[in-house]
Amino acid sequence: MSFLTPATRTDLRPAGAAAVRALQDAVPGVHLPGSDAYAALTTTSNLMHPVSPLAVVAATGPADVSATVRLAAAFGVQVAVQGTGHGATEEMRDAILVHTGTLDELTVHPQERWARIGAGVRWAHVLEAAAPHGLAALCGSSPDVGAVGMLTGGGLGPVARSHGLSSDTVRAFEVVTGDGVLRRVTAVEEPDLFWGLRGGKGTLGIVTAVEVDLLDLPTVYGGSLWFAEADVAAVLRTWGQWCELLPDEGTTSVAVMRLPDMDPFPPPLRGQVTLNVRFVWTGDPAVGEEMIRAIRAVAAPVVDTVQTMPYAALGDVHADPVDPMPLHESHHLLDGFGVAGADRLLELAGPGVPSAQVMVEVRQLGGKVREGDPCAYAHRDAAYSMFVVGLMIPEVAQVVTSDAARIGEGMGPWLRDGGLPNFTDSAGRAWAERVFTPLVARRLRTLSRAYDPAGVLLAARGVRA
Ligand SMILES: Cc1cc2nc3c(=O)[nH]c(=O)nc-3n(C[C@H](O)[C@H](O)[C@H](O)COP(=O)(O)OP(=O)(O)OC[C@H]3O[C@@H](n4cnc5c(N)ncnc54)[C@H](O)[C@@H]3O)c2cc1C
Repeated sequence: MSFLTPATRTDLRPAGAAAVRALQDAVPGVHLPGSDAYAALTTTSNLMHPVSPLAVVAATGPADVSATVRLAAAFGVQVAVQGTGHGATEEMRDAILVHTGTLDELTVHPQERWARIGAGVRWAHVLEAAAPHGLAALCGSSPDVGAVGMLTGGGLGPVARSHGLSSDTVRAFEVVTGDGVLRRVTAVEEPDLFWGLRGGKGTLGIVTAVEVDLLDLPTVYGGSLWFAEADVAAVLRTWGQWCELLPDEGTTSVAVMRLPDMDPFPPPLRGQVTLNVRFVWTGDPAVGEEMIRAIRAVAAPVVDTVQTMPYAALGDVHADPVDPMPLHESHHLLDGFGVAGADRLLELAGPGVPSAQVMVEVRQLGGKVREGDPCAYAHRDAAYSMFVVGLMIPEVAQVVTSDAARIGEGMGPWLRDGGLPNFTDSAGRAWAERVFTPLVARRLRTLSRAYDPAGVLLAARGVRA
Protein backbone atom coordinates (compact mmCIF):
# COMPACT_ATOMS: atom_id res chain seq x y z
CA MET A 1 0.00 0.00 0.00
CA SER A 2 1.25 3.48 -0.80
CA PHE A 3 1.95 5.58 2.27
CA LEU A 4 0.07 8.41 0.61
CA THR A 5 -3.07 6.53 -0.36
CA PRO A 6 -5.57 6.17 2.49
CA ALA A 7 -6.78 2.58 2.80
CA THR A 8 -10.48 1.90 2.43
CA ARG A 9 -12.08 1.37 5.83
CA THR A 10 -13.85 -1.93 5.14
CA ASP A 11 -11.97 -4.02 7.72
CA LEU A 12 -10.04 -1.97 10.23
CA ARG A 13 -8.51 -4.78 12.25
CA PRO A 14 -5.91 -5.98 9.69
CA ALA A 15 -5.22 -2.36 8.68
CA GLY A 16 -4.95 -1.57 12.38
CA ALA A 17 -2.39 -4.28 12.99
CA ALA A 18 -0.28 -3.04 10.09
CA ALA A 19 -0.61 0.56 11.29
CA VAL A 20 0.53 -0.40 14.76
CA ARG A 21 3.59 -2.20 13.39
CA ALA A 22 4.46 0.85 11.29
CA LEU A 23 3.89 3.14 14.29
CA GLN A 24 6.33 1.14 16.40
CA ASP A 25 9.01 1.94 13.82
CA ALA A 26 8.05 5.58 13.54
CA VAL A 27 7.45 6.91 17.07
CA PRO A 28 8.68 6.04 20.57
CA GLY A 29 6.24 5.11 23.33
CA VAL A 30 3.82 2.82 21.50
CA HIS A 31 2.04 0.63 24.08
CA LEU A 32 0.03 -2.46 23.25
CA PRO A 33 -2.83 -4.24 25.04
CA GLY A 34 -1.56 -6.43 27.86
CA SER A 35 1.25 -4.09 28.96
CA ASP A 36 1.18 -2.18 32.24
CA ALA A 37 1.70 1.11 30.41
CA TYR A 38 -1.29 0.43 28.15
CA ALA A 39 -3.43 -0.32 31.22
CA ALA A 40 -2.31 2.88 32.95
CA LEU A 41 -2.79 5.10 29.90
CA THR A 42 -6.26 3.77 29.11
CA THR A 43 -7.60 4.36 32.63
CA THR A 44 -10.89 6.26 32.70
CA SER A 45 -12.57 7.87 35.69
CA ASN A 46 -16.00 6.57 34.71
CA LEU A 47 -15.63 2.79 34.80
CA MET A 48 -18.73 2.50 32.57
CA HIS A 49 -16.61 3.94 29.75
CA PRO A 50 -13.57 1.70 29.36
CA VAL A 51 -11.44 2.42 26.32
CA SER A 52 -9.67 -0.30 24.34
CA PRO A 53 -7.71 1.20 21.45
CA LEU A 54 -5.49 -0.85 19.14
CA ALA A 55 -2.46 0.85 20.71
CA VAL A 56 -1.57 3.92 22.77
CA VAL A 57 1.03 6.44 21.69
CA ALA A 58 2.41 8.29 24.71
CA ALA A 59 3.21 11.48 22.82
CA THR A 60 6.45 13.23 23.80
CA GLY A 61 5.76 16.26 21.61
CA PRO A 62 3.79 17.56 18.62
CA ALA A 63 6.03 15.61 16.23
CA ASP A 64 4.80 12.30 17.69
CA VAL A 65 1.19 13.46 17.35
CA SER A 66 1.75 14.54 13.76
CA ALA A 67 3.54 11.31 12.80
CA THR A 68 0.77 9.22 14.39
CA VAL A 69 -2.00 11.10 12.61
CA ARG A 70 -0.28 10.90 9.20
CA LEU A 71 0.55 7.25 9.57
CA ALA A 72 -2.92 6.31 10.80
CA ALA A 73 -4.45 8.14 7.84
CA ALA A 74 -2.23 6.25 5.47
CA PHE A 75 -3.48 2.95 6.90
CA GLY A 76 -7.12 4.04 7.13
CA VAL A 77 -7.15 3.86 10.92
CA GLN A 78 -8.68 6.52 13.16
CA VAL A 79 -7.02 8.39 16.02
CA ALA A 80 -8.48 9.37 19.39
CA VAL A 81 -7.01 11.55 22.14
CA GLN A 82 -6.99 11.36 25.92
CA GLY A 83 -5.16 13.34 28.60
CA THR A 84 -6.63 12.23 31.93
CA GLY A 85 -9.53 9.89 31.07
CA HIS A 86 -12.01 12.14 32.92
CA GLY A 87 -14.17 12.66 29.85
CA ALA A 88 -13.94 9.33 28.03
CA THR A 89 -17.01 8.49 25.97
CA GLU A 90 -15.58 6.67 22.92
CA GLU A 91 -14.78 2.96 22.99
CA MET A 92 -11.84 3.53 20.57
CA ARG A 93 -11.96 -0.14 19.58
CA ASP A 94 -10.48 0.28 16.10
CA ALA A 95 -8.55 3.47 16.79
CA ILE A 96 -5.10 4.44 17.95
CA LEU A 97 -5.08 6.56 21.09
CA VAL A 98 -2.74 9.52 21.40
CA HIS A 99 -2.14 10.07 25.13
CA THR A 100 -1.04 13.60 25.98
CA GLY A 101 -0.16 13.02 29.65
CA THR A 102 3.53 13.82 29.23
CA LEU A 103 2.95 17.09 27.35
CA ASP A 104 3.38 18.85 30.66
CA GLU A 105 4.87 22.27 29.82
CA LEU A 106 3.46 25.05 31.97
CA THR A 107 4.72 28.64 31.92
CA VAL A 108 3.06 31.56 33.67
CA HIS A 109 3.82 35.08 32.38
CA PRO A 110 2.81 37.16 35.42
CA GLN A 111 3.48 40.58 33.91
CA GLU A 112 1.37 39.98 30.81
CA ARG A 113 -1.07 37.76 32.72
CA TRP A 114 -1.16 34.69 30.55
CA ALA A 115 -0.07 31.07 30.71
CA ARG A 116 1.07 28.47 28.23
CA ILE A 117 -0.30 25.05 29.12
CA GLY A 118 0.69 21.68 27.63
CA ALA A 119 -2.10 19.29 26.66
CA GLY A 120 -1.26 16.94 29.54
CA VAL A 121 -1.58 19.53 32.32
CA ARG A 122 -4.43 19.38 34.84
CA TRP A 123 -6.09 22.55 36.15
CA ALA A 124 -4.68 21.91 39.65
CA HIS A 125 -1.16 22.57 38.38
CA VAL A 126 -2.20 25.75 36.57
CA LEU A 127 -3.93 27.08 39.71
CA GLU A 128 -0.84 26.27 41.77
CA ALA A 129 1.52 28.00 39.31
CA ALA A 130 -0.65 31.12 38.93
CA ALA A 131 -1.50 31.62 42.64
CA PRO A 132 1.86 33.04 43.83
CA HIS A 133 1.32 35.91 41.35
CA GLY A 134 -2.23 36.55 42.59
CA LEU A 135 -3.52 35.24 39.27
CA ALA A 136 -6.24 32.74 38.43
CA ALA A 137 -7.13 30.52 35.48
CA LEU A 138 -10.75 29.94 34.52
CA CYS A 139 -10.94 26.27 35.54
CA GLY A 140 -13.94 23.99 36.07
CA SER A 141 -15.34 22.54 39.27
CA SER A 142 -12.67 19.83 39.44
CA PRO A 143 -8.98 20.85 39.32
CA ASP A 144 -8.17 17.21 38.52
CA VAL A 145 -9.62 17.64 35.02
CA GLY A 146 -7.29 18.35 32.08
CA ALA A 147 -7.14 22.03 31.07
CA VAL A 148 -7.15 21.32 27.33
CA GLY A 149 -9.93 18.71 27.46
CA MET A 150 -12.11 21.15 29.39
CA LEU A 151 -11.26 24.22 27.27
CA THR A 152 -12.02 22.49 23.98
CA GLY A 153 -15.51 21.80 25.36
CA GLY A 154 -16.15 25.47 26.20
CA GLY A 155 -15.73 25.03 29.92
CA LEU A 156 -18.21 26.08 32.53
CA GLY A 157 -16.60 26.72 35.90
CA PRO A 158 -17.56 27.96 39.38
CA VAL A 159 -17.12 31.62 38.34
CA ALA A 160 -18.64 31.25 34.86
CA ARG A 161 -21.41 33.83 35.34
CA SER A 162 -18.98 36.60 36.28
CA HIS A 163 -16.12 35.63 33.93
CA GLY A 164 -17.64 33.64 31.08
CA LEU A 165 -16.76 30.39 29.41
CA SER A 166 -13.25 29.14 30.11
CA SER A 167 -12.63 28.91 26.36
CA ASP A 168 -13.26 32.67 26.11
CA THR A 169 -9.86 33.12 27.81
CA VAL A 170 -7.97 31.20 25.10
CA ARG A 171 -5.43 33.29 23.16
CA ALA A 172 -3.95 30.51 21.05
CA PHE A 173 -4.05 26.78 20.43
CA GLU A 174 -1.28 24.68 18.99
CA VAL A 175 -2.96 21.81 17.27
CA VAL A 176 -2.24 18.94 14.94
CA THR A 177 -5.12 18.81 12.49
CA GLY A 178 -6.29 15.61 10.80
CA ASP A 179 -3.94 16.24 7.86
CA GLY A 180 -1.04 15.89 10.30
CA VAL A 181 -0.02 19.56 10.13
CA LEU A 182 0.96 21.36 13.36
CA ARG A 183 -0.75 24.76 13.33
CA ARG A 184 -0.79 27.80 15.56
CA VAL A 185 -4.40 28.94 15.84
CA THR A 186 -5.52 32.36 17.08
CA ALA A 187 -8.42 34.67 16.35
CA VAL A 188 -6.30 36.13 13.55
CA GLU A 189 -4.29 33.14 12.28
CA GLU A 190 -6.67 30.32 11.26
CA PRO A 191 -9.84 32.01 12.62
CA ASP A 192 -12.08 29.13 11.45
CA LEU A 193 -10.15 26.63 13.54
CA PHE A 194 -10.12 29.10 16.45
CA TRP A 195 -13.92 29.17 16.25
CA GLY A 196 -14.20 25.37 16.05
CA LEU A 197 -11.68 24.39 18.73
CA ARG A 198 -13.66 26.34 21.35
CA GLY A 199 -16.55 23.95 21.89
CA GLY A 200 -15.79 21.39 19.17
CA LYS A 201 -13.58 19.28 21.48
CA GLY A 202 -11.40 16.93 19.42
CA THR A 203 -13.43 17.33 16.22
CA LEU A 204 -10.84 19.40 14.36
CA GLY A 205 -7.54 18.34 15.83
CA ILE A 206 -5.36 17.18 18.67
CA VAL A 207 -4.32 20.20 20.70
CA THR A 208 -0.74 19.99 21.95
CA ALA A 209 -0.67 23.28 23.92
CA VAL A 210 -2.92 26.21 24.69
CA GLU A 211 -2.30 29.79 25.78
CA VAL A 212 -4.85 31.42 28.07
CA ASP A 213 -5.41 34.80 29.71
CA LEU A 214 -5.12 34.77 33.50
CA LEU A 215 -7.38 36.77 35.81
CA ASP A 216 -6.33 39.11 38.56
CA LEU A 217 -8.35 37.20 41.15
CA PRO A 218 -6.31 36.01 44.15
CA THR A 219 -9.37 35.38 46.33
CA VAL A 220 -13.12 34.88 45.99
CA TYR A 221 -15.96 34.77 48.50
CA GLY A 222 -17.45 31.33 48.20
CA GLY A 223 -17.86 27.77 49.33
CA SER A 224 -20.46 25.17 49.95
CA LEU A 225 -23.56 24.89 52.18
CA TRP A 226 -25.07 21.51 53.05
CA PHE A 227 -28.59 21.22 54.41
CA ALA A 228 -30.17 18.25 56.20
CA GLU A 229 -33.08 16.27 54.76
CA ALA A 230 -35.74 18.17 56.71
CA ASP A 231 -34.63 21.47 55.14
CA VAL A 232 -34.09 20.34 51.55
CA ALA A 233 -37.49 21.47 50.23
CA ALA A 234 -37.47 24.94 51.79
CA VAL A 235 -33.89 25.70 50.74
CA LEU A 236 -34.36 24.41 47.19
CA ARG A 237 -37.50 26.52 46.73
CA THR A 238 -35.68 29.61 48.04
CA TRP A 239 -32.68 28.89 45.81
CA GLY A 240 -34.98 28.71 42.78
CA GLN A 241 -36.34 32.18 43.52
CA TRP A 242 -33.00 33.65 44.68
CA CYS A 243 -31.23 32.72 41.42
CA GLU A 244 -33.62 34.88 39.46
CA LEU A 245 -32.38 37.94 41.38
CA LEU A 246 -28.69 37.02 41.70
CA PRO A 247 -26.35 39.55 40.02
CA ASP A 248 -23.76 38.24 37.55
CA GLU A 249 -20.94 38.45 40.14
CA GLY A 250 -22.47 35.35 41.71
CA THR A 251 -22.24 31.84 40.25
CA THR A 252 -24.26 29.12 41.95
CA SER A 253 -25.44 25.57 41.63
CA VAL A 254 -27.46 23.23 43.76
CA ALA A 255 -27.38 19.46 44.11
CA VAL A 256 -29.86 17.06 45.67
CA MET A 257 -27.49 14.44 47.05
CA ARG A 258 -28.04 10.86 48.17
CA LEU A 259 -24.58 9.89 49.34
CA PRO A 260 -24.33 6.20 50.21
CA ASP A 261 -24.09 5.36 53.90
CA MET A 262 -20.44 4.37 53.69
CA ASP A 263 -16.90 5.73 53.88
CA PRO A 264 -15.48 8.10 52.70
CA PHE A 265 -18.67 10.17 53.05
CA PRO A 266 -18.90 12.04 56.39
CA PRO A 267 -21.71 11.06 58.81
CA PRO A 268 -23.81 14.25 58.62
CA LEU A 269 -24.09 13.93 54.84
CA ARG A 270 -24.37 10.22 54.11
CA GLY A 271 -27.33 7.87 54.19
CA GLN A 272 -29.90 10.65 53.79
CA VAL A 273 -31.11 13.15 51.23
CA THR A 274 -29.17 16.40 51.56
CA LEU A 275 -29.00 19.63 49.60
CA ASN A 276 -25.66 21.13 48.58
CA VAL A 277 -25.72 24.81 47.58
CA ARG A 278 -22.52 26.05 45.91
CA PHE A 279 -21.83 29.77 45.69
CA VAL A 280 -18.90 31.85 44.44
CA TRP A 281 -19.00 35.64 44.47
CA THR A 282 -16.22 37.52 42.65
CA GLY A 283 -17.28 41.04 43.68
CA ASP A 284 -16.94 42.72 47.09
CA PRO A 285 -16.98 39.93 49.73
CA ALA A 286 -19.25 41.99 51.99
CA VAL A 287 -21.86 42.10 49.24
CA GLY A 288 -21.39 38.36 48.64
CA GLU A 289 -22.08 37.75 52.32
CA GLU A 290 -25.30 39.76 52.03
CA MET A 291 -26.29 37.73 48.99
CA ILE A 292 -25.88 34.32 50.61
CA ARG A 293 -27.68 35.49 53.75
CA ALA A 294 -31.00 34.68 52.03
CA ILE A 295 -30.00 31.02 51.78
CA ARG A 296 -28.40 30.83 55.23
CA ALA A 297 -31.60 32.31 56.69
CA VAL A 298 -33.82 29.45 55.52
CA ALA A 299 -32.28 26.84 57.81
CA ALA A 300 -29.08 26.15 59.69
CA PRO A 301 -26.69 24.33 57.34
CA VAL A 302 -25.00 21.18 58.67
CA VAL A 303 -21.84 22.26 56.83
CA ASP A 304 -21.02 25.85 55.84
CA THR A 305 -17.68 26.64 54.17
CA VAL A 306 -18.70 29.92 52.50
CA GLN A 307 -16.06 32.54 53.30
CA THR A 308 -13.27 34.48 51.62
CA MET A 309 -11.00 31.83 50.17
CA PRO A 310 -7.96 31.63 47.87
CA TYR A 311 -9.00 31.20 44.25
CA ALA A 312 -6.51 28.31 44.09
CA ALA A 313 -8.80 26.37 46.49
CA LEU A 314 -11.78 26.69 44.12
CA GLY A 315 -11.99 22.89 43.79
CA ASP A 316 -13.23 22.75 47.40
CA VAL A 317 -16.52 24.39 46.38
CA HIS A 318 -17.83 21.33 44.51
CA ALA A 319 -15.37 18.85 46.08
CA ASP A 320 -15.86 16.52 43.11
CA PRO A 321 -14.68 12.94 43.61
CA VAL A 322 -11.55 11.97 41.67
CA ASP A 323 -11.40 8.20 42.14
CA PRO A 324 -12.67 6.02 39.29
CA MET A 325 -16.29 4.90 39.78
CA PRO A 326 -18.98 3.24 37.63
CA LEU A 327 -21.38 6.07 36.84
CA HIS A 328 -24.47 6.68 34.78
CA GLU A 329 -24.54 10.34 33.77
CA SER A 330 -27.25 12.27 31.96
CA HIS A 331 -27.44 15.94 31.17
CA HIS A 332 -30.10 18.43 30.10
CA LEU A 333 -30.37 22.12 29.40
CA LEU A 334 -33.20 24.13 30.92
CA ASP A 335 -34.77 27.41 29.84
CA GLY A 336 -35.67 28.37 33.41
CA PHE A 337 -36.06 26.95 36.92
CA GLY A 338 -37.52 29.21 39.62
CA VAL A 339 -39.80 28.08 42.44
CA ALA A 340 -41.94 26.00 40.07
CA GLY A 341 -38.84 24.18 38.77
CA ALA A 342 -37.72 23.55 42.35
CA ASP A 343 -41.16 22.13 43.21
CA ARG A 344 -41.02 19.80 40.23
CA LEU A 345 -37.52 18.64 41.13
CA LEU A 346 -38.68 17.93 44.68
CA GLU A 347 -41.52 15.79 43.28
CA LEU A 348 -39.04 13.91 41.12
CA ALA A 349 -36.03 13.52 43.40
CA GLY A 350 -36.69 15.20 46.74
CA PRO A 351 -36.90 13.64 50.21
CA GLY A 352 -39.39 10.79 50.44
CA VAL A 353 -39.25 10.09 46.70
CA PRO A 354 -37.54 6.84 45.74
CA SER A 355 -34.65 7.81 43.46
CA ALA A 356 -31.57 5.86 42.46
CA GLN A 357 -29.44 8.94 41.73
CA VAL A 358 -26.50 9.98 43.88
CA MET A 359 -26.71 13.53 42.59
CA VAL A 360 -29.18 15.70 40.73
CA GLU A 361 -27.38 18.97 40.07
CA VAL A 362 -28.74 22.21 38.64
CA ARG A 363 -26.22 24.90 37.64
CA GLN A 364 -27.37 28.41 36.92
CA LEU A 365 -25.88 29.71 33.66
CA GLY A 366 -26.42 33.16 32.14
CA GLY A 367 -24.34 36.21 32.99
CA LYS A 368 -21.10 36.37 30.97
CA VAL A 369 -21.65 32.83 29.69
CA ARG A 370 -24.06 34.44 27.22
CA GLU A 371 -21.36 36.84 25.98
CA GLY A 372 -18.05 36.21 24.24
CA ASP A 373 -17.05 35.72 20.63
CA PRO A 374 -19.00 33.23 18.56
CA CYS A 375 -17.55 29.74 18.78
CA ALA A 376 -18.61 26.12 18.37
CA TYR A 377 -20.08 26.09 21.89
CA ALA A 378 -23.63 26.27 20.64
CA HIS A 379 -25.86 26.89 23.65
CA ARG A 380 -24.60 30.05 25.34
CA ASP A 381 -28.16 31.20 25.93
CA ALA A 382 -29.33 28.23 28.03
CA ALA A 383 -30.47 29.38 31.49
CA TYR A 384 -29.62 26.28 33.55
CA SER A 385 -27.86 22.94 33.15
CA MET A 386 -29.06 19.78 34.90
CA PHE A 387 -26.69 16.87 35.51
CA VAL A 388 -27.96 13.58 36.93
CA VAL A 389 -25.49 11.01 38.24
CA GLY A 390 -26.18 7.49 39.47
CA LEU A 391 -23.78 4.90 40.83
CA MET A 392 -23.94 1.68 38.83
CA ILE A 393 -23.47 -0.56 41.87
CA PRO A 394 -25.19 -3.96 41.82
CA GLU A 395 -27.94 -2.97 44.30
CA VAL A 396 -29.36 -0.25 42.02
CA ALA A 397 -27.70 -0.57 38.61
CA GLN A 398 -30.83 -1.98 36.95
CA VAL A 399 -32.98 0.99 37.85
CA VAL A 400 -30.45 3.84 37.59
CA THR A 401 -30.88 4.39 33.85
CA SER A 402 -34.68 4.39 33.80
CA ASP A 403 -34.77 6.50 36.96
CA ALA A 404 -32.50 9.12 35.34
CA ALA A 405 -34.80 9.19 32.31
CA ARG A 406 -37.81 9.64 34.61
CA ILE A 407 -36.20 12.68 36.23
CA GLY A 408 -35.10 14.17 32.90
CA GLU A 409 -38.52 13.72 31.30
CA GLY A 410 -40.21 15.00 34.45
CA MET A 411 -38.53 18.37 33.98
CA GLY A 412 -40.26 18.53 30.56
CA PRO A 413 -41.74 22.06 30.74
CA TRP A 414 -38.32 23.52 31.56
CA LEU A 415 -36.27 21.43 29.11
CA ARG A 416 -34.80 22.77 25.92
CA ASP A 417 -33.02 20.95 23.12
CA GLY A 418 -29.29 20.60 23.23
CA GLY A 419 -26.48 19.69 25.55
CA LEU A 420 -23.07 20.99 26.58
CA PRO A 421 -19.97 19.44 24.98
CA ASN A 422 -18.32 18.64 28.33
CA PHE A 423 -21.40 17.20 30.05
CA THR A 424 -23.11 15.16 27.32
CA ASP A 425 -22.21 11.56 27.97
CA SER A 426 -22.44 10.03 24.51
CA ALA A 427 -20.27 9.68 21.44
CA GLY A 428 -20.41 10.02 17.68
CA ARG A 429 -23.57 11.22 16.03
CA ALA A 430 -25.68 11.08 19.21
CA TRP A 431 -23.20 13.44 20.91
CA ALA A 432 -22.92 15.83 17.96
CA GLU A 433 -26.69 16.06 17.52
CA ARG A 434 -27.18 16.98 21.19
CA VAL A 435 -24.30 19.39 21.46
CA PHE A 436 -24.32 21.36 18.20
CA THR A 437 -27.05 23.24 16.40
CA PRO A 438 -27.42 22.15 12.74
CA LEU A 439 -25.61 25.34 11.68
CA VAL A 440 -22.64 24.73 13.97
CA ALA A 441 -22.49 21.04 12.95
CA ARG A 442 -22.49 22.01 9.26
CA ARG A 443 -19.62 24.46 9.72
CA LEU A 444 -17.62 21.90 11.71
CA ARG A 445 -18.25 19.30 8.99
CA THR A 446 -16.94 21.66 6.31
CA LEU A 447 -13.85 22.42 8.39
CA SER A 448 -13.31 18.77 9.21
CA ARG A 449 -13.35 17.85 5.51
CA ALA A 450 -10.89 20.64 4.75
CA TYR A 451 -8.40 19.95 7.56
CA ASP A 452 -8.88 16.21 7.87
CA PRO A 453 -9.48 14.92 4.33
CA ALA A 454 -9.03 11.24 5.29
CA GLY A 455 -11.40 11.50 8.27
CA VAL A 456 -8.71 10.25 10.62
CA LEU A 457 -9.93 11.96 13.80
CA LEU A 458 -12.36 9.69 15.63
CA ALA A 459 -14.00 12.67 17.37
CA ALA A 460 -15.15 14.06 13.99
CA ARG A 461 -17.30 11.07 13.06
CA GLY A 462 -20.35 12.62 14.72
CA VAL A 463 -20.34 15.73 12.53
CA ARG A 464 -19.24 13.84 9.40
CA ALA A 465 -21.90 11.12 9.68
C1 LIG B 1 -15.25 15.43 38.34
C2 LIG B 1 -15.50 16.20 37.07
C3 LIG B 1 -15.92 17.51 37.13
C4 LIG B 1 -16.14 18.23 35.97
N1 LIG B 1 -16.53 19.54 36.05
C5 LIG B 1 -16.66 20.27 34.93
C6 LIG B 1 -16.97 21.65 34.98
O1 LIG B 1 -17.15 22.22 36.04
N2 LIG B 1 -17.10 22.32 33.82
C7 LIG B 1 -16.90 21.74 32.60
O2 LIG B 1 -16.99 22.41 31.58
N3 LIG B 1 -16.60 20.42 32.52
C8 LIG B 1 -16.49 19.68 33.64
N4 LIG B 1 -16.19 18.36 33.57
C9 LIG B 1 -16.14 17.73 32.27
C10 LIG B 1 -14.73 17.83 31.68
O3 LIG B 1 -14.40 19.17 31.41
C11 LIG B 1 -14.67 17.04 30.38
O4 LIG B 1 -14.98 15.70 30.64
C12 LIG B 1 -13.31 17.17 29.73
O5 LIG B 1 -13.38 16.67 28.42
C13 LIG B 1 -12.27 16.39 30.48
O6 LIG B 1 -11.03 16.59 29.85
P1 LIG B 1 -9.81 15.65 30.23
O7 LIG B 1 -8.70 15.99 29.32
O8 LIG B 1 -9.59 15.71 31.69
O9 LIG B 1 -10.40 14.20 29.89
P2 LIG B 1 -10.00 13.16 28.77
O10 LIG B 1 -10.83 11.96 29.03
O11 LIG B 1 -8.54 12.96 28.71
O12 LIG B 1 -10.48 13.84 27.43
C14 LIG B 1 -11.86 13.94 27.17
C15 LIG B 1 -12.09 14.53 25.82
O13 LIG B 1 -11.58 15.86 25.76
C16 LIG B 1 -11.09 16.13 24.46
N5 LIG B 1 -9.64 16.30 24.53
C17 LIG B 1 -8.81 15.92 25.52
N6 LIG B 1 -7.55 16.25 25.21
C18 LIG B 1 -7.60 16.82 23.99
C19 LIG B 1 -6.61 17.36 23.11
N7 LIG B 1 -5.31 17.35 23.45
N8 LIG B 1 -7.00 17.86 21.93
C20 LIG B 1 -8.31 17.89 21.58
N9 LIG B 1 -9.28 17.38 22.35
C21 LIG B 1 -8.92 16.87 23.54
C22 LIG B 1 -11.40 14.92 23.62
O14 LIG B 1 -12.66 15.10 23.01
C23 LIG B 1 -11.44 13.82 24.65
O15 LIG B 1 -12.21 12.71 24.25
C24 LIG B 1 -15.96 17.61 34.72
C25 LIG B 1 -15.55 16.29 34.65
C26 LIG B 1 -15.32 15.59 35.81
C27 LIG B 1 -14.86 14.16 35.71
